[in-house]
Amino acid sequence: MPKDPKDLLNTVRGMRDILPDEMALRNKVLGVIRDLFGLYGYREILTPTIEPYELYEAKSGEEIRHRMYTFTDMGGRKVVLRPEATPSISRLVVRKFRSESLPIRLGYILSVFRYDEPQRGRYREFMQAGFELFGSKNMEADAEILQISNDLMRRLGFRDYSFKVGNQGLMKSLLSFGGIREAAQGIVLHRIDKGQYDEAEAEICTLSSKGALIAGKVRKLALLSKEAQGEDLLERGAEIVKDVPGAKAELSNLSEVLDLCRGIAVDKLKVDLGFARGLEYYTGTIFEVYVPGVPVAVNGGGRYDGLTGLFGYPLPAVGCAPGVDRIVLAMQGKSSAEVRVPLCMVVATSPECIGLAFKAADAIRSSGTSALLDVNRRNLNSALGYASERGIRFVVIIGTREAKENLVTLRDMARNVQKQIPMKELPNSISQSK
Ligand code: AMP
Repeated sequence: MPKDPKDLLNTVRGMRDILPDEMALRNKVLGVIRDLFGLYGYREILTPTIEPYELYEAKSGEEIRHRMYTFTDMGGRKVVLRPEATPSISRLVVRKFRSESLPIRLGYILSVFRYDEPQRGRYREFMQAGFELFGSKNMEADAEILQISNDLMRRLGFRDYSFKVGNQGLMKSLLSFGGIREAAQGIVLHRIDKGQYDEAEAEICTLSSKGALIAGKVRKLALLSKEAQGEDLLERGAEIVKDVPGAKAELSNLSEVLDLCRGIAVDKLKVDLGFARGLEYYTGTIFEVYVPGVPVAVNGGGRYDGLTGLFGYPLPAVGCAPGVDRIVLAMQGKSSAEVRVPLCMVVATSPECIGLAFKAADAIRSSGTSALLDVNRRNLNSALGYASERGIRFVVIIGTREAKENLVTLRDMARNVQKQIPMKELPNSISQSK
């Protein structure tokens, strides 16, 4: 127990309360995401918050593995609070969608947990939305995920965002060329993801006899991407990896994706051939979305062809996970969403009228208009004060004398006028006065 009761006022480090204004903005973002689920044919699903430790221990990356909330439940099972959702969704596809024809498009919105170092835009519980497309190896699937990510930004009103695009397969083929086994590649990919090229080089040199050559190529690809773009970059990149098996195919995939995106967002795409993502399951196209003023990515995704195969049903797959909290952070101050204020408040001026007030509020809501009931038995002045403080437009006053004649008083707080009307006309009268 905390010694001081005031300690109970603190949330656990890295966890946040979300207040009405932010919640309204968040719901606006979630609304746009759900519109996109519908527009692009992604059926929404939900997976459990608590998952077997092994599912995430083996399938997520070096970075996430060490940041998982892990515990043993009362049945002695080692479990985690999911640190992301792609392995869960992949398992779900194998368990429940095996008999469906391909491709399978699924969407989700859920909370994930990572023991990250808290800072602006980095929390320990945050919300990810996801678009996952299973069953197509073709680059139009990758381009669709980029298109959705672009559509999301546009629909939310962002203009000066940018995509960093690369290919994890290119990096992996380079590391395999150096004789570094798939299982050992994670730590290197993690370093490259963080832009720690010196540390990556040191790891590569420990793991490979051709270390200097491989690390040199990684650096050249990264440097080249700073000075060249488009066809020029792809051609000069191909030259750097011309002796690396598999690299040519990955570069041609990347070129195909860029071609397909030409009509939608090519001015926003910055290709980085020296880019890798920390999540080890990525096999091909990878990308992140950045917004000025937010130093961390607001969305990330890519192709992960091997994941469902681990559950016995190999399917090519590609997807993305927009981070709802960071998108909201980027919108704050530039965009707002209104917290819904009820249109009217019903006040009984004496205890005998409470039953009637209760019914009147019900009738108003049944007609589709929002209504609060005064549950504090305030006097009229204090009730009007409350309504005005909250921005409530109409106050319905029910008093003993009028109630006997089935009348109520409807006060328009905006115009500062009031009238008596028959109780049964109340819902209509409010709608007409709006
Ligand atoms: P990832 O699963 O690492 O690819 O992350 C996908 C998205 O989740 C990122 O682009 C961020 O928007 C968001 N995200 C990742 N980590 C955090 C965090 N600690 N706090 C808030 N959002 C995060």
